[in-house]
Amino acid sequence: MKPFANTLRELIALEGPITVERYMSLCVRHYYATRDPLGAGGDFTTAPEISQMFGELIGLWMLEAWSAMGRPHPCRLVELGPGRGTLMADLLRATGLLPDFRAAATVHLVETSPALRLRQQAALASSGASLAWHDSLEDVPPGPLLLVANEFFDALPVRQLVATERGWCERLVGLEDDRLIFGLRAEPERPLGNPLRLGDVLEWPAASVAVMQELSGRIARDGGAALVIDYGYWGPAFGDTLQALKAHAHVDPLEEPGDADLTAHVDFQRLAQAAAEAKARVHGPAAQGGFLAALGIEARAAALKARATPAQAAEIDRALHRLTEKGPKGMGELFKVLAVTHGDLEAVPGLPAPSHPPTV
Ligand code: SAH
Repeated sequence: MKPFANTLRELIALEGPITVERYMSLCVRHYYATRDPLGAGGDFTTAPEISQMFGELIGLWMLEAWSAMGRPHPCRLVELGPGRGTLMADLLRATGLLPDFRAAATVHLVETSPALRLRQQAALASSGASLAWHDSLEDVPPGPLLLVANEFFDALPVRQLVATERGWCERLVGLEDDRLIFGLRAEPERPLGNPLRLGDVLEWPAASVAVMQELSGRIARDGGAALVIDYGYWGPAFGDTLQALKAHAHVDPLEEPGDADLTAHVDFQRLAQAAAEAKARVHGPAAQGGFLAALGIEARAAALKARATPAQAAEIDRALHRLTEKGPKGMGELFKVLAVTHGDLEAVPGLPAPSHPPTV
């Protein structure tokens, strides 16, 4: 039996059932601390790993936002959960178009995994940028912020509450014999309120909301813009979105604790609400496909293909398709993009005018 799964069972045997939120938090931390899960040989692939075009276009987005901000110097270029460092490497290369930006930007990588920090160091060593690693956004020094988070928020733990006749009850992970099972806390957390179907699941992303509050508060205070890209929906919605991926296939979330990629879908409405409450301006969300199209991904693909071999050109087309395609196979519709800026920034590239200006 795997050591982490054993430790988890011992913990539950000792302390009793744990919340889904704690289960997810423990599993995700162990998972990323002990491996590089990205790419074809891993458990899942992300947009920057599919094509350099993704990070490059985000780099151009950052240049436009920086110019609209009045070209602040210094400026904190932050990435939350940078994975292999691929997005940041592509982004930095693209921002080389504006040497003043490169001189102003100090790069801050918020990453808890020691294994992935090493990958990021290797990917960014030749970038020439000033690099610093942090455990959390709070540790990034103050100053105008340009931030990107791709597939970061979906890794943060969620609480799950289930509608029962007694009220909303916390979903737990416990033990039956030696097997992990889902259960419910007997005492309800709160009454049901509106009529609901029994069994409905309400997810509460406390950690995501806290990060959003922090970054939006900083942007409202010091200026800046943030781009959040993730697999998610515009809530409120009821449903269990906890899912686990192993070798690019879905597995039971309790089957391989700490050994499969455990995520929950991102509720963009809740993130937008947290940003507006912190007095930042919200842009979007928009579907990833439309966002990348508006930033010129077709033209970038054509430029890359012009100096590619036929095999490379086919690969570029495949990547373009995968990043922008609608429907369940592509990332174009399933992934959403939300920007948060200082109130002074009235528009950002690729996203509709603010639909949710700060109201509080
Ligand atoms: N953005 C990358 C990687 C996504 S995987 C890409 O698009 O390819 C999620 C990333 O978030 C990993 O780097 C993981 O180690 C990091 N991560 C997960 N939970 C975190 C936390 N609580 N704090 C900081 N980083 C975290």
